[in-house]
Amino acid sequence: MKRKICIIGSGTAGLQLAYSLKEEFDVTVVHANSSDKIQNGRILSTQVHFGSTRNRENRFNMPKWEDTTLLNSIHMTIGNQKLFVGKLKEPALSVDQRLYFSQGMKDLETKGVSFRHLRVHKEQIESFVAEFDLLIDCTGKSGPLFPFPIESELSPFQVPQRKCIVGYFFGVKPNQPLGVSVTVLPGIGEMFEIPALTEHGSVTILFLMAIPDRELDVFKKMNNKNAFTHQMKNVTREYFQDIHERIEQDMFALADDNAFLQVAIKPVIRKPYVTFKNKLVVGCGDSVFLNDPITGQGCNLSSYCAEKLYETLIQYKDSNWDIRVGEAYWDQTKAYVKEVTEWTNAMTKDLPQHVIQMLLGGAENQMIADEVANWFADPRKAYEAFFQPSNL
Ligand SMILES: Cc1cc2nc3c(=O)[nH]c(=O)nc-3n(C[C@H](O)[C@H](O)[C@H](O)COP(=O)(O)OP(=O)(O)OC[C@H]3O[C@@H](n4cnc5c(N)ncnc54)[C@H](O)[C@@H]3O)c2cc1C
Repeated sequence: MKRKICIIGSGTAGLQLAYSLKEEFDVTVVHANSSDKIQNGRILSTQVHFGSTRNRENRFNMPKWEDTTLLNSIHMTIGNQKLFVGKLKEPALSVDQRLYFSQGMKDLETKGVSFRHLRVHKEQIESFVAEFDLLIDCTGKSGPLFPFPIESELSPFQVPQRKCIVGYFFGVKPNQPLGVSVTVLPGIGEMFEIPALTEHGSVTILFLMAIPDRELDVFKKMNNKNAFTHQMKNVTREYFQDIHERIEQDMFALADDNAFLQVAIKPVIRKPYVTFKNKLVVGCGDSVFLNDPITGQGCNLSSYCAEKLYETLIQYKDSNWDIRVGEAYWDQTKAYVKEVTEWTNAMTKDLPQHVIQMLLGGAENQMIADEVANWFADPRKAYEAFFQPSNL
């Protein structure tokens, strides 16, 4: 008989785990919202799946997407100075999570994975632990359900560092070559412009990261789509001229009534395993590795760790699933989690001089521009550039 695994949460981490584990194990996914509700609900995030994440999606035969919005580059601007366009080694893709999650859930159901529609509460976790051989907590930023210990060295913040303000828009002519555009306005925040694929076709995501109580923090009480759209137009006019010039005034509109979001995240990193009622429980994704979205690593880190967890469970397929398995999983992920987290935390602060010099160097030298672009695809390189510049 196959061992029974329960994955709580059907987001980035939960879905990839379900795809990877479904052949070897009897997998049940418990999910708070139905696929229809997700598909027709509010946007959940922005998301850029870089090359290595897309390679893992292929490895585990996850759904394929139209490649009409492949992202091949990173455009970098500081203040009002466009510095460079760096080329990514492998194309990235941003698919609206409402579409990505709902399609993944429906597809997995046809492939033998069981689904239970239930928002799990802490009082219920004991019965889940008793029913399954292993629980994987993939509850994302609203989690975790289990008491995974906080890694205080990697969790320096007591409050969110940014307000995240996101809209999926029609009527913004994308930057060419198609890619993610990053604009840093020192001291007040950042704008990320991301061409993305949605149920309604191609859109442009405008993702504003406002330092609280500074000039970009002007969306308080913007709860309706017209006020939100109007304010985004004002902000681009005043602070992001390059985007503003590409807005087609009579076409500029949210992709649908639910295509806007405001959220603020307090980053926290936890050790991703714990023993609960004498059984091992593990966590994967934001429930245990929650970073600020500023470097766009959340989905990529979730996918990386989900693959490592899959490999660990396969390695220990015929052994006891005890604390050793949790330790082996953490050993496989710790270094990467640390590098992503420390780079991400550093990006929420003033950029160090040597990094500014490197960005300016990208304006003169295409090799440097390409190197910086690939920080986002391989955050270990970014970590090196920030913290071990003498190794470069
Ligand atoms: C504004 C914003 C912008 C972002 N931009 C990027 C980006 O550009 N690139 C990037 O890589 N990442 C980005 N991220 C981060 C990325 O979205 C997350 O890191 C990623 O989705 C985490 O995957 P996950 O599976 O851990 O959690 P999620 O994808 O959030 O999934 C969690 C799932 O668990 C379910 N759930 C929660 N609690 C329960 C419960 N009690 N019972 C049952 N089900 C439950 C939820 O309904 C959800 O389906 C961004 C995040 C935000 C908020």
